[in-house]
Amino acid sequence: MAQYGLDMDIQFLPGVGPKRAELFTKELGISTVGELIRFYPYRYIDRTSFTRIADARPDMAYIQIRARVLRTELFSNSSASAVGIASQEQNKDGKDLKFNTIKRMSVWIEDGSGQMELVFFKGIKWMHEKLTPGSEFIFFGKPSAFNGRVNLVHPEVDPAPSTTTSQPTTTSSQPTTTAIQPTSATAGEKPTAPSTKAVSFTDGCTMTGVYPSTERLKNAGVTAKLMNRIMEAAMDKGMIYIQESMPEYLIRQCGLVPLHFALRNIHFPQSQDALEKARYRLKFEELFYLQLSLLKQKYIRSRNDVGIRMPKVGEAFNKCYSALPFPLTGAQKRVITEIRDDMKSGHQMNRLLQGDVGSGKTMVAVLSALIAVGNGYQACIMAPTEVLAQQHFKNIGKFLAPTGVKAALLTGSTKASERRELHAGLEDGSIGIIVGTHALIEDNVIFRNLGLAIVDEQHRFGVEQRSKLWKKACCGCPPHVLVMTATPIPRTLAMTLYGDLDVSVIDELPPGRKPVQTIHATEGKRAALYRFMKEQIALGRQIFVVYPLINETEKLDYQSLEAGAEDIMNNFPFPEYKTAVVHGKQLNDVKQFNMDAFAAGRADILVATSVIEVGVDVPNASVMVIESAERFGLSQLHQLRGRVGRGSEKSYCVLMTGYKLSKESKHRIELMCATENGFDLAEEDLKMRGPGDLEGTQQSGLPISLNIASLAKDGILLNAARDCADAVLKEDPELSADKNQMLRKELRKDKYEIKDYSRIS
Ligand code: ADP
Ligand code: MG
Repeated sequence: MAQYGLDMDIQFLPGVGPKRAELFTKELGISTVGELIRFYPYRYIDRTSFTRIADARPDMAYIQIRARVLRTELFSNSSASAVGIASQEQNKDGKDLKFNTIKRMSVWIEDGSGQMELVFFKGIKWMHEKLTPGSEFIFFGKPSAFNGRVNLVHPEVDPAPSTTTSQPTTTSSQPTTTAIQPTSATAGEKPTAPSTKAVSFTDGCTMTGVYPSTERLKNAGVTAKLMNRIMEAAMDKGMIYIQESMPEYLIRQCGLVPLHFALRNIHFPQSQDALEKARYRLKFEELFYLQLSLLKQKYIRSRNDVGIRMPKVGEAFNKCYSALPFPLTGAQKRVITEIRDDMKSGHQMNRLLQGDVGSGKTMVAVLSALIAVGNGYQACIMAPTEVLAQQHFKNIGKFLAPTGVKAALLTGSTKASERRELHAGLEDGSIGIIVGTHALIEDNVIFRNLGLAIVDEQHRFGVEQRSKLWKKACCGCPPHVLVMTATPIPRTLAMTLYGDLDVSVIDELPPGRKPVQTIHATEGKRAALYRFMKEQIALGRQIFVVYPLINETEKLDYQSLEAGAEDIMNNFPFPEYKTAVVHGKQLNDVKQFNMDAFAAGRADILVATSVIEVGVDVPNASVMVIESAERFGLSQLHQLRGRVGRGSEKSYCVLMTGYKLSKESKHRIELMCATENGFDLAEEDLKMRGPGDLEGTQQSGLPISLNIASLAKDGILLNAARDCADAVLKEDPELSADKNQMLRKELRKDKYEIKDYSRIS
């Protein structure tokens, strides 16, 4: 247990001790002084500005109020919410009171603009002694609303500076400003001022950092104020050991402030300007190293990896292209050019293709596969579910017809005899394109010469599956890899998650798409909804009704689907109406039969769970009803909505929810009704939930955790950091130059050990 240096255990810092140190480790992952110094405030409070009581609102963040104590009221165990059993007048010094029976204390304060209640449930005895009527304090806390009034629960209390004229007027046993003793919980704190050091980190600092904290830390007495003291102590001990972590030339080139300046000012800003510079520097550094580590891998790979050279476009491609029933969109053309350039480069392609639902990724997949075939190689297209694989196979068939290329379908339910035939066809090369599920990458599937692997809906594929795919390499060369995802990953996140992949984006929908009108409704509107559905069916349209299936083993989810399907069938009686039901527990044949019925227009309504429908293409479906919509994430809702609006008719998406929604759910539903742009929604999702929760990123995981930079908010900075990292590597790919030794050393740290998603073998 180190007692000095950056590895010094934080328990030795004044104000911490072994118990709190353990909590710091458990709750925040901080054990050493070095780690603590790299733990930054997430916001700042200007300690020179005060909020008037009359202006306080419950939706404000932390506020600071300078006010005088009017009176305190104590509430006992038995009457916790009833009458005050004592007021300050009756119990002058509180001595007679049995504080162990007191559950709550109300303190009324006044600042000339109004009165406000402070509420305490803990530390009442000490606060009661401290907050004597008439004395003035600075109260700091987060306002909340109670009984229609704004109050502060457990505010921090500081003595008001004595320089003002508004000194406490009442007298006697009242403690003076300096006599206020720390509680046992905060024992060991240094006095606030004056500092005994020649130069203090806090000198001249008017802003106070607010650090991320947890309930348990707060309960252990680690207040915002104490946190600042601890940080000051940590800097006192640790700063001399901190070495600059960016090379001099990059500091100059990128206009950064030195690390010491940045750390001092991130914790104890000397000015708003210094704080901005500090943040910029620290964010930049964080994003720079992240990008540098990712790009370095990419450089190494593109140099070492020989890929299959596919010099021509080929006849099959041209035949398919000239027979297309529609012109490609500009975005599709651009993306195909990018893919084609990769495939002919002689390096292995590792490309992520992003495109909103309905943007026409399948077309791109087909044309890419045909390039491989045209060069004498095979291609495979993998889908996450059986239904999707079948759908792909069917769609692709249309486009392949003019080419004469033989395609096949291989899934878990392919019969053994058929399977043998397929295996033979793959091995002898007579099958050019194979579509399928995970079954494609089983060990017994042998390709003659797999040249391109396309993975659809990437987030359902684990790393393990991809590595299996890798082993299908032929003639010593790995196949080109194209990963397609409809989860609109914000650019900033994609750059980070897939920093080692190339990213193509289809940012344009095929022409003629009608906007989808999105409506929020609750149970009371169900009758109206059913009437509306009947109108639509009368017009010849089809309708999806989707139930959440969050957990496949969750009985309740199936029950709600079954109950819902029954309700639909009662309200839409056969034979006038035809309803198909599809869910994951059905046999594949049954599932397929029902899906086909809907796709072919034999059923008016498809009642389904959310897990199986991804990618289903039924242009005649114009209404998407999503039940319990509050249980879905934004991107999932968006995916579902993308199932309609594909035909020429006006389409609708109805979000059914319960009456009571959490603030977040409400926000999600409102956003869905307000915008159809998947990237905007994903951006919002990222802001609301943070990158860790974003659908599709959980499995791949963010390569390293970010301390201060935000992928959602620091997009511009991320670009700058990436450009800088790219320039460094272009000049010195090995980082062997003297000036880059610092970079090399930093990248050796564990946190940059990045899993390579595309080629783990
Ligand atoms: P996704 O990107 O969601 O996989 P699809 O590839 O399923 O989208 O395409 C959605 C629909 O749009 C399909 O019916 C497809 O045939 C059609 N489509 C694709 N490209 C075009 C285009 N350039 N013009 C018109 N329709 C297109
Ligand atoms: Mg698709």
